[in-house]
Amino acid sequence: MSNERTELEQLGEFGLIKHLTQYFKINHKSTVKSIGDDAAILSVDDHEQLLVTTDMLVEGVHFDLMYTPLKHLGYKAVVVNLSDVYAMNATPKQITVSIAVSNRFSLEAIEELYSGIQKACEWYDIDLVGGDTTSSKSGLVISITAIGVASPEKIATRAGARLHDLIVVSGDLGGAYMGLQVLEREKEVFRSVNEAQPDLSGYDYILERQLKPEARKDIVELLDQLDVKPTSMIDISDGLASELYHIADQSFVGCDIYEEKIPVSPETIAAAKEFNLDYTTAALNGGEDYELLFTIKQKDLEKIQGNPHFSIIGHVTEEASGCRLITRAGEPITLKAQGWNAFRNEI
Ligand code: ADP
Ligand code: MG
Repeated sequence: MSNERTELEQLGEFGLIKHLTQYFKINHKSTVKSIGDDAAILSVDDHEQLLVTTDMLVEGVHFDLMYTPLKHLGYKAVVVNLSDVYAMNATPKQITVSIAVSNRFSLEAIEELYSGIQKACEWYDIDLVGGDTTSSKSGLVISITAIGVASPEKIATRAGARLHDLIVVSGDLGGAYMGLQVLEREKEVFRSVNEAQPDLSGYDYILERQLKPEARKDIVELLDQLDVKPTSMIDISDGLASELYHIADQSFVGCDIYEEKIPVSPETIAAAKEFNLDYTTAALNGGEDYELLFTIKQKDLEKIQGNPHFSIIGHVTEEASGCRLITRAGEPITLKAQGWNAFRNEI
């Protein structure tokens, strides 16, 4: 080790992962895909592959216990992991849960957390099969690993998008980010005005998007029923723009999306107006919506078109044209992928 000091911020989250893992070799034939997708792919036999993914949530970074009920936190911690398995067009089956807790937490508090974990396991039909428990000097840390299965021909990675494929997104975007803005605002009010009770009425939808997101198990099942195999897929955890870049980078393509086609709920639009924010920006860069972003072949258009769960937001272009947003005025602008950078606390 030299005496040089490089700030992590310079690399960013993805740069750091790349830097740290660049010299690791893959030695096993059963490792079909390692770092770089929503989940790693491991082969079992010709008919079945395993998907493995891990996410860690840290108090004060990923959640604030001032406004996050522990039960919701447990539920969300599971959901964000399952979402990465669904994003491979696969079915999650098991999780392991590891926690680090300080003596600030009582048994009852941890039971609350686990009641949320259990609720998610029941809803998504997941077995809890292990984990680790240790102490922490400061905040709460939750790390969950999800394991799923799929047949090799069903799995959708980030690398399969092809020229002229259509770009589709499930549900609507930007709601979780606007929910967070409401919670942060009420936290400030609570702090400054003699512990005034927060006024959260009227924000139910966006608060639920932030506090109790769901993974789109139903979308993976629906795609199967419609006999549509996405050519590529990713879940929207960091924001639409950032996820589009992941698909574009790994598929060596470009993409055009149309501002007017991006699905945003009326509740999100209303909240954005109130906060003087552009709702397209919330959809592009807000993140935590856990919707699925995927590409399909043109021939599958009819199967998707008109379905209320899906919005066709654009198409795949040549790599050289990059990722562009066609504004309502019809002007193409290069997308900025800010998304989530673990070492920079802004969007
Ligand atoms: P996602 O947003 O889908 O959860 P991440 O951005 O967390 O994915 O991670 C990107 C990729 O890098 C994944 O394949 C993940 O497994 C891998 N990865 C993240 N952190 C590390 C690490 N510290 N060491 C090795 N691989 C990592
Ligand atoms: Mg993901």
